[in-house]
This record gives sequence, structure tokens and C-alpha cells, in this order.
Amino acid sequence: MVEAKKLTAQDVHDLIADYMNDEHVKKVDKAYQFAFHLHQEQKRKSGEPYIIHPIQVAGILAELHMDPDTVVAGYLHDIVEDTTATLADVEQAFGHDVAVIVDGVSKLSRIKYKSSREQLAENHRKLLLAMSHDIRVIIVKLADRLHNMRTLSALREEKQRRIAAETLEIYAPLADRLGIMTIKWELEDMALRYLNFDAYHDIAKSMDLRRQERLEIVDEAVDEIKHSITDLHLANTEVYGRPKHIYSIYRKMVDKNKRFEEIYDLLAIRVLVDTIPETYAVLGAIHARWTPMPGRFKDYIALPKANGYQSLHTSVIGPGGRPLEVQIRTYKMHEIAEYGIAAHWAYKEGNFAGADVQNADQQKLNVIQGILELQDDAQDADDFMESVKGDLFTD
Ligand code: GDP
Repeated sequence: MVEAKKLTAQDVHDLIADYMNDEHVKKVDKAYQFAFHLHQEQKRKSGEPYIIHPIQVAGILAELHMDPDTVVAGYLHDIVEDTTATLADVEQAFGHDVAVIVDGVSKLSRIKYKSSREQLAENHRKLLLAMSHDIRVIIVKLADRLHNMRTLSALREEKQRRIAAETLEIYAPLADRLGIMTIKWELEDMALRYLNFDAYHDIAKSMDLRRQERLEIVDEAVDEIKHSITDLHLANTEVYGRPKHIYSIYRKMVDKNKRFEEIYDLLAIRVLVDTIPETYAVLGAIHARWTPMPGRFKDYIALPKANGYQSLHTSVIGPGGRPLEVQIRTYKMHEIAEYGIAAHWAYKEGNFAGADVQNADQQKLNVIQGILELQDDAQDADDFMESVKGDLFTD
């Protein structure tokens, strides 16, 4: 796991100045000043000034290129709970949308998750979604949780385990549901580190030991694939080895009862291209060159996943008889694959300017539709609350 760099308010300013106009940059900077004054006397468990936390949360949101109101809400997400400021103050200074997001995040923070029974976890996730009238509430909450996980070492062991379990059962699946995979993967890896340090450590160490050897084999496979698609004369292709995450290796070892090598040594390659017809052309070239493995082809382009994920998946008997998993997608699909719904809320200027505009809009509708269905499911929130009262929640 790469340690995340601690950002300063200046870093956040620089990040947003890269993609927002001056007026929006000013609004975000004003939110920093606002939060700075309100949190001035407070410290985190680690003993650091409290403001470091909202700065990191705003920074995570800025790295996702979120819109100004979301980054502002990142700065302000704790002020109603923890300082003298009220929601009305937030609304007056930053407008209605920011107030709605801050209110939503504050409300979610008050719900405590206690049970790890699967059905209750699913209900809890639905409830969080239903309570978030604006999906940006969940995005801020995920950024908040991500920074809390990055700094979990400051807490007592029992609390570390409780928060790590909640992260794994509630927040990582929520990130998955919204397709924000960069956050999901990091949350899972960190949660595993606190819940099962030995497994985390063993896998991380084994990955380190085999890294060089694996890089070489991956490079060879990448070259072979590049070679096999040269006849297609594609203008703008990228072919690379797909990174593997500790938690997903761990899960596969446990679920499929496999050894580390059996999972880690499987080659996973990704091909990025400009257009949808090119994805199918690449697939054709790969299947013409190597024998596909039965039952392993999935067309998530024609049939996207509920979270908006699109890609072609295939596994072939690759170079040297090694199984080779290949994912093929457009650059636009790749952005959605990594950032999910956050990509749809990303700052608009210059975004979605590519060839996939209509497609992106359709995906956005699909994802939102999926979330609304979940929210509908959770409309029985009253019954649900009755059924779990005293079990799942405090106050
Ligand atoms: P399948 O058996 O081919 O449908 O795929 P799996 O569910 O086993 O996933 C295989 C790989 O596909 C994962 O390791 C991810 O790299 C990728 N994948 C599957 N679903 C998603 C998704 O929703 N988002 C993203 N970003 N990647 C996904």
C-alpha cells in the first residue's frame, strides 16, 4: 500500500486551480478559511490540528475532480457536528446545495452500525443511500472514511477493528455500488490490514518478492498483444498489466481455496482504445491469435453492470500456454471504471468532450436508475427501522 501524501490547503488549492475557474476556486478557498477558524482549537486523536482532516477530505475530492460544492462540503463536513456553526450559516455562506450535502453527511455520521449480519449490512447500505437525497453526500462520506482509514493507527485496537469491519461491510460495498473503485480498493486493503494483519502482511510480502519476475512476464504478454493488434492500425491504444489488490487476492485465496501463486501469477492485461468498434476489433484479434477459454467471455459493453461498469472480459490460453485475462475498454469507460459515479459529477468544463458523450449520459442514467431502485427498496425504511431498532442503531 502506498502511503498517501498529507496535503496542505495550498495543495488542495493547486489541485482545484487545475480544473476549476477562478470563481469556483475562490469559493473552495473561502470554505477552507471558514473551516480553519471553526476548528482552530480542536485536535484529532493523533494530536494533530483537526483542520488536517477536512483538508485531506477536500483533497481526496479534488483528486476525483469533483464539482466545487462537493469539495466545499469536504471542507465543511464536520462543522455542524463539531463546532458552533449551524446549517443556516453554511447555507448563507455557501448556498443550498452545500448545506444539503453537509446536512446529509452529518446525519449519516450519527447512525452507528453495530451488527455484522449480512442482511442487516445490506439494509444498512440501502438506508444510507435512501437518506442521501443527493448522491454527493455518499461521495463526501466515502472520502471522509478513506482519510479516517488512512489514519486509523491513532485509535485503540478495539476501535480500529470496529471501524475496519464497518468499512469492509458497509463503505467498500457502497463504493462498489457507485463504481468508485479507486476508493473501494484502498478501503478494502486498509481494512484487511487491521482485521487480519498476518494475511495482509504475507500477501504484501509475497507480492514484493515476485514483483520483478511478474513484471517481466507481464511485459512479454503486453508485447505479444501489441503485436497481435498491429494490423488494426489503431491510433491511440494502451496495453498494460493490470494492478492486483491485496484484498482481492486474499478473497480469492479464501473463497476458492487457492494458494497465493495460483492467483497472483494469473496474467491480467488491460487494453484501452478510443471507440467501441475498436474494442470488438481488439477482441477479435486476440481470439484469432489465442484460444479463448470457454465461459470466460463477458460483454459488459453491450450489457453494463448496475454500477455503470463497461468492458469486454475474456480469458485465453496465452503465450507459453499461460492463461491470460484481458479487459478491453474505451478511455471513457476506463474513467467510469475507476471513478464511477464520481466521474459523472466531476467538474464539467472540458469533461465528456470525447466521442462518447451520449454513451456517458446513458451510463449516468443507468447508474442513477440503479441507485433510485435501491432507494425505492429502502422506502420501507419505517418497517426496516422497526425490525432492527436497538440492534443496529444507537440514539
Ligand atoms: P467476470 O467473471 O469476468 O464477470 O469478472 P469478475 O467479477 O470476476 O471481475 C474480474 C475483474 O473485472 C475484476 O478484478 C475487476 O478488474 C473487473 N471488474 C469487474 N467488475 C467491475 C466493476 O464493477 N468495476 C471495475 N472497475 N472493475 C470491475
